[in-house]
Amino acid sequence: MNVLFLAHTEADGGLSKAACEALSAAKGLGGELVVGLYGAEVQKAADQIAGCGAVKFLGVAGADFATARYASDAAACEALAKAAAAELIVMPSTSRASRVAPGVAARLGAAVDTRLTALEAAGGKVVGTRWFYRQRILGKVARDTRPWLVTVDSGCFAAFEGAGTAQVEAVAASGQSRTTVTGVIAPAADAQTIRPDAKLLLVAGAGWGKTQADGQKHLDEASQIILGLLSATQASLGSSKSLVDQSGEGAALPFLTHMHQVGQTGATPRHQKGLATCCHGEEPHVVGWRFIGERRAVNLDANCGWAQGKADVLYVADAFAVAKKLAELLK
Ligand SMILES: Cc1cc2nc3c(=O)[nH]c(=O)nc-3n(C[C@H](O)[C@H](O)[C@H](O)COP(=O)(O)OP(=O)(O)OC[C@H]3O[C@@H](n4cnc5c(N)ncnc54)[C@H](O)[C@@H]3O)c2cc1C
Repeated sequence: MNVLFLAHTEADGGLSKAACEALSAAKGLGGELVVGLYGAEVQKAADQIAGCGAVKFLGVAGADFATARYASDAAACEALAKAAAAELIVMPSTSRASRVAPGVAARLGAAVDTRLTALEAAGGKVVGTRWFYRQRILGKVARDTRPWLVTVDSGCFAAFEGAGTAQVEAVAASGQSRTTVTGVIAPAADAQTIRPDAKLLLVAGAGWGKTQADGQKHLDEASQIILGLLSATQASLGSSKSLVDQSGEGAALPFLTHMHQVGQTGATPRHQKGLATCCHGEEPHVVGWRFIGERRAVNLDANCGWAQGKADVLYVADAFAVAKKLAELLK
């Protein structure tokens, strides 16, 4: 079985953690591995993973491939997949790769499945695993169609490490497009939705908007503290339903949207560590924490949900004071 690990490089020329995880998924299949990289330049990225045991490193490089753009990215992926003649193509689930994956599959006449959480070859069959219906059903997927293009979710495989020097074979692809990229506007870490690449998930609950010990609400201060902590830690921001519902009505923290909601009717992030602040830890919220490695919470209430076996550590304390001190210590 020929397996192609297909990924774009980052602005610094290297590969993201999500891409290195996808490489581990591709390697785990045990077939003949080919690496296909595209971006402004690909040598640094190839060297970063030179020890992965690939029989070939293919690259599409040039200014046209520097930033995400459907036409050039799809052309690069198509050219690399054809050059590798791979039966299985494994890509990371980054937004840049996810955008072109279905189009590339259509050009190749390939089957496509996205956001797999496991991938293995057993008894001559490749089987992937993915969630359906908002993580309610875990399904197994196998396809007879070849090529089969899959994207794998981040946080499900250990990121490959093994640098060295790789010999990259250049592959030609058309970078022509009617779209010209004039610049990139990226939201700051404290303004984004849940970011899987962050090491820490910081959850803000409705307590931030509640009347505090002095009989007053301190929403502006809460905003500043949360944004300060996010910029000091580069953590990803999550929230509870109660708080994002209030934000939608313009009553609470202005930077929160429903995209931040963690829980039964929200997201199920996979960060290594999570810190819940001013959040009660009720079951519909905590169910969204099931893939968080280490859970900690700060709450005034020693009998809150987190104390009922839902957190590894509960700090019974005022989150305003704790978060302020934390941001100060991290400066
Ligand atoms: C069908 C269904 C689906 C749901 N889905 C979701 C979901 O996906 N996600 C979700 O989050 N919820 C969901 N909920 C709602 C959930 O049950 C809770 O109502 C919600 O999570 C509560 O949010 P909260 O903990 O932020 O707010 P609250 O319950 O109001 O808790 C606020 C907490 O802040 C603490 N606090 C206040 N001030 C401070 C301070 N200074 N320092 C420290 N702590 C302080 C308080 O002690 C309190 O524990 C769902 C409910 C239903 C019925």
